[in-house]
Amino acid sequence: MKKTALIIAGNWKMNLTLGESNELVKQLLQGLPKLNGVQVIVAPPFTALQAAALELKGSSMELAAQDLHWEKPGAFTGAIAGEQLADIGCRYVLIGHSERRQYFGETNSIVGKKIQAAFRVGLKPIVCVGETVQERESQKTFSVIQTQIQQAFVSLRSKQIEELFIAYEPIWAIGTGKVASPEMAQEVHQFIRDQIKTSKTPILYGGSVNPENARGLFAQPDIDGALVGGASLKAQSFLSIIGSAISVLKENG
Ligand code: PEP
Repeated sequence: MKKTALIIAGNWKMNLTLGESNELVKQLLQGLPKLNGVQVIVAPPFTALQAAALELKGSSMELAAQDLHWEKPGAFTGAIAGEQLADIGCRYVLIGHSERRQYFGETNSIVGKKIQAAFRVGLKPIVCVGETVQERESQKTFSVIQTQIQQAFVSLRSKQIEELFIAYEPIWAIGTGKVASPEMAQEVHQFIRDQIKTSKTPILYGGSVNPENARGLFAQPDIDGALVGGASLKAQSFLSIIGSAISVLKENG
């Protein structure tokens, strides 16, 4: 099938001061070429979100938050509600990133509640799934991902599944420089596609994506883009990944 769109999302994690984030947004906006079907999203830390929202207004880059709380605004000290994110101009929110699961005890059922909270306020969820190295080595990749999806999506309608993005991020590939081979990633993306029974939901790959390996990943039929961590913190490397997506679409078009 012909590829007509790719999505490149940058997860800045717990990095950058407000000044550094503003500078990165500025450099990205200056360097952004004509996107021709590529969608670009950045997820700065909470402290820089509002400034980024103001800067991105009217541009072709969109804004994501890295997390949200599932409850409506209220007495939840330290948490941020979807309503507050939508209010400042976020359109997307990362949910269930492996670092949230590992360091903050986020379960599949919490991921499910966060997805519902995002939909409640009109935010598009980018739901992360992926296996550990031990799970891969003991041939449990597919069953782990099946459980993550089944439990988190249990109360979603099919229409809602089509409205979210999934990011397949093998944990052993995140921040390690060990990217999954395009074939390895494609195999899991195809499995996810079979699980959700729709071709409408974009499935991004995440885990050590960089300017050297991006093109090979984007050429795979079920890889609809990338969630980029480390390489999204430098304008040059993020722009280069965006450039790879543009040229893959051009070659496919
Ligand atoms: C991530 O954390 O979402 C990620 C993919 O990180 P990195 O690109 O640094 O592996």
